[in-house]
Amino acid sequence: MSDTHEHAAGDSVPELKQRIRELEGMLHACRLRLPNAPADAVRELAESEERFALAVRGTNDGIWDWDIRTNKVFFSPPWKSMIGYEDDELENVFATFETHVHPEDHERVMSILNDYLAGGIPRYSVEFRFRHKDDTWRWILARGRALFDDQGKPYRMAGSHTDVTERKQAEEELRQARRAADAANSAKSAFLANMSHEIRTPMNGVIGMSELLLGTDLGQTQREYLEMLKLSADSLLELLNDILDFSKIEAGRMELDAHEFDLSEVVTEISQAMGIRAFQKRLVFLHHISPDVPLRLIGDDGRLRQILVNLIGNAIKFTHKGGVTIEVSLEAETADRVTLHFKINDTGIGIAADMRESIFAAFTQAETSTSRRYGGTGLGLAICHDLVALMQGRIWVESQPGTGSVFHFTAAFGRATGTSLKSRKPRIKPVVTVHSSMKVLIVEDGHVSQLVGARMLEKRGHVVTLASNGREALERCGKETFDAILMDVHMPGINGYEATAKIRQTEQATGRHVPIIAMTANAMKGDREKCLASGMDDYIAKPLRSAELFHVVEQFAKRSATPEPALASPTSSAPTPPFDLAEFRESTGDEKLMLKLVGIFSEDSQKYLRKAEKALAAGKARPLYEAAHSLKGMLGVYAARQALEIVSKLCDDAHAGDLKDAQLMLDQLKKECALLGDALVVSFAPGI
Ligand code: ADP
Repeated sequence: MSDTHEHAAGDSVPELKQRIRELEGMLHACRLRLPNAPADAVRELAESEERFALAVRGTNDGIWDWDIRTNKVFFSPPWKSMIGYEDDELENVFATFETHVHPEDHERVMSILNDYLAGGIPRYSVEFRFRHKDDTWRWILARGRALFDDQGKPYRMAGSHTDVTERKQAEEELRQARRAADAANSAKSAFLANMSHEIRTPMNGVIGMSELLLGTDLGQTQREYLEMLKLSADSLLELLNDILDFSKIEAGRMELDAHEFDLSEVVTEISQAMGIRAFQKRLVFLHHISPDVPLRLIGDDGRLRQILVNLIGNAIKFTHKGGVTIEVSLEAETADRVTLHFKINDTGIGIAADMRESIFAAFTQAETSTSRRYGGTGLGLAICHDLVALMQGRIWVESQPGTGSVFHFTAAFGRATGTSLKSRKPRIKPVVTVHSSMKVLIVEDGHVSQLVGARMLEKRGHVVTLASNGREALERCGKETFDAILMDVHMPGINGYEATAKIRQTEQATGRHVPIIAMTANAMKGDREKCLASGMDDYIAKPLRSAELFHVVEQFAKRSATPEPALASPTSSAPTPPFDLAEFRESTGDEKLMLKLVGIFSEDSQKYLRKAEKALAAGKARPLYEAAHSLKGMLGVYAARQALEIVSKLCDDAHAGDLKDAQLMLDQLKKECALLGDALVVSFAPGI
């Protein structure tokens, strides 16, 4: 065989014809020497050749047959017409193929071909652009097989060309359509995220103002309307937060913010907060962390809280009798990571089997009547689902309609090493801080936000100075010293970051450090870090909530060594601790009972105050005495010393029929009760 090829290189046509005749003669001789050669086999061979020829003609594919040693190639007429040429217009050499391949595809095609011929890959199949006679590009799918000699060297390769231009175009169109859809979707998510973010700012005004109004003298109807307004505003804000989270996740802008935290702190705080709701519905509420669960973890405790609050909130919402339990156990652990398994168990209405998957999709509720009966939007579980995925976990539910549900989720955390790491400051101090009046500078360009912040702090007994931009703030700071500065971040002119930097600069000379708290409606990832990095001490999100505001500001209060005298005069505006937590704890003896008492404080105290008010307006001493007496009994439980002193005096006076100071005392009592209400919320209901 190899002889044949060596000769072939320089052969001329007559010599070739001669050679073919010789070979045909040899073939004939072979046949004669094989007298038993079955006639069937010969016929089958002929038929199969015919079938092949038909198949080749029948497809639009082009056929090529390449003699690797001579570089000559047979290109079938369809091979050539595929790129617009007549048979005689193209030379039958390898270069014809090579020069038509798109320059950008050339290297790839040649390397695949060489790899195949060298035995590196099992199949030759490659797609590339191929130049048409009219200078356009066609997409070709080339496939082929080679024959190898005894030494494993390829000497011949043949195969086909298929025009796949239309398929390629369709694929490309699909890709483009998908890109456009993705872009539209993330534009939508970004729009939603920005929008809900923007709406939070005016919500500041609505919520803050209604909180302030609630603290003033109001008629019964006005109060009821206003409470409804406040409730609606609160749920609107909750909804906005959900939409913001969900769209952030969709736009791929949600990231976890990992740091060290204490798991038992998280679970206990949430249980305390949610426990109030459970108690109001007379549900049993328990939580348990397995002893083998490591408590010092690294992860995003804020997002973990969010998942728990959502699931526990749902459990309480959909349960009418029985109770809710939370269990945390260890699923898996390595030297530096732990996977925890959380279980939220309720004895509520349960979920039908066909809804158990879909409730984790956005805007899905188990029944169409759910929204009407229980409220909600169906976003909570979708957010939980995505947050859990970010924590490398999964979420699922087991449920029996009418019996209850168990929501499970797993989440992975880093394990905090050693004890050297500083823990983050606890979100809530277990003891009410003794706060003395502070001088606070509010730097804020929005009039409504200014007013809300200022009134809340003033009502609490602090002295507030206002600055409406960064420049004014710097001027003020040059003249006076403040105990704390609340600094808006986005302001025209000198913004909050710049103003802070300037203040910190001048402080280098004096060695002082005024606590600066950033106020911002930004809830985007990294804002907190940015504020802290620019020299601020803490961060509060708008809309401002009084409990949170007091907590953040008053953590910087200078603890006075000599606490102010309790109720020096009933008109004193400097607040002293509204109640004694230790005594309250001792007299109740039970955390759960305390929580319950915290939950009912506002409503009950308001009830007695309104009774007293009504009696006084009618000039009736007896019912005034009764109301004051009930209030006195109640305030005793909370160990609210100042309020008790006032109410005792009111009781005595009313008993004696003396009403001349009654109005003054009643006003004082109202203020005290409002303070006490705030203080109780701050102490017992973190994060809400
Ligand atoms: P929302 O509570 O705002 O409607 P979620 O995404 O949190 O939205 O919940 C989706 C739906 O799943 C709820 O409307 C309810 O039908 C069902 N669901 C969630 N938790 C429970 C539960 N513990 N018991 C019964 N049904 C539940």
